[in-house]
Amino acid sequence: MAILLLLLPAAVAAFILYTIWKLRWGSPPGPFPAVLAYHKVGGFEFGGTWITPARFAGHMDRLLDSGRRFISEDEFLASLCGSRERDPGEILLTFDDAYAMLSVNAIPALAERKIPALVFVVTEYAGRDNAWELPLPGRRAAHMSWEEIRRLSDAGGVTFGSHSGFHRDLTKYPPGELDRELAASKKAMEERTGRPARSFSYPYGRVNRRVAEAVRKAGYEAAFTLYPPGKITAVDPFMLRREGVWVIDTGRSVLNKLPGSAIFWFEDVKGRSINAFAGMSLPRRRNGPSRR
Ligand SMILES: [Zn+2]
Repeated sequence: MAILLLLLPAAVAAFILYTIWKLRWGSPPGPFPAVLAYHKVGGFEFGGTWITPARFAGHMDRLLDSGRRFISEDEFLASLCGSRERDPGEILLTFDDAYAMLSVNAIPALAERKIPALVFVVTEYAGRDNAWELPLPGRRAAHMSWEEIRRLSDAGGVTFGSHSGFHRDLTKYPPGELDRELAASKKAMEERTGRPARSFSYPYGRVNRRVAEAVRKAGYEAAFTLYPPGKITAVDPFMLRREGVWVIDTGRSVLNKLPGSAIFWFEDVKGRSINAFAGMSLPRRRNGPSRR
C-alpha cells in the first residue's frame, strides 16, 4: 500500500510530462536514421558534454549488439536526398568541436569496430586551445590540428564538416558577416582536406530560418542542430535533429534515444532540458580573434 502511494504521484507526473511533450514536440518525422551527437571523450571536465573512453566504447558495443548499423556521411546524405532508402535502424555518429583527444580516445575504438564518423571542425580553432568552454584550472582542451584532420581524412572512416569559423551564436550575426564566415569556413575545410565539406553543424545548436538559409546558400548539403524547436512534420535538410549524448548517459539510455524506443519521449525531454541548461552558460563575451 505504501509503495502504491509513492508510485502514484510519479505515474501522474510522468503522464503530465508525456502529455506536454506530445503536444509541444511529439515524435520526429520518420522513418529516418538516428544521428548521435558526442563532444569530448576523455577525463573529467566541467559541463555535461564529456564521457570516458571506456564508457564511449561501451555505448558503441551496446549499439552494435542491438543490431543497429552505423552509416557514413555519404550514405546519410544519399538517404537524405532520396537516392538511398531511409532506414530507422541506421545511425550516423557525429562529434562537434573536433577535440584533439578524439584521435586517442575515440577514433581508434571506432576503427576497431569499423564505425564511420562525421566530425565538425571550428575552422579558426584548428590546432588551437578551446576558448569558449569553462576549463579546469590550467587545462584547456586542444582542438585537432589541420595536419591531424588531413591525416584522418586521408585514412578514411572519418569525414569532416564545418562547425563555423569561430563557434559563436550564428543567430546574432548581421547577414553579410554570416555569409562571409560560412564561406570562409567551407573554403578552409576544402583546401585543408582536399575534399568537399558537405555538412555543417550549428554552434550550440542555435539556428533560425535566416541562418539555415545562409548555410544552404553557402553550398552545404545538410546542417545539423540538436533539438529543432516546435513540432516537426517533415525532415528538413538544414534543420536536422541529433540526439545529444551527455555525461550521464549509459548504453541503455543511448538505445532509448533511437527510433522505436517506448521511452524516446523521456530521453527527448531529458536531452532538451540538459541542452537548455547548457545554453544558459552561453558565453556572453565573444570568443576568438576579434571580428573583421
Ligand atoms: Zn560546438
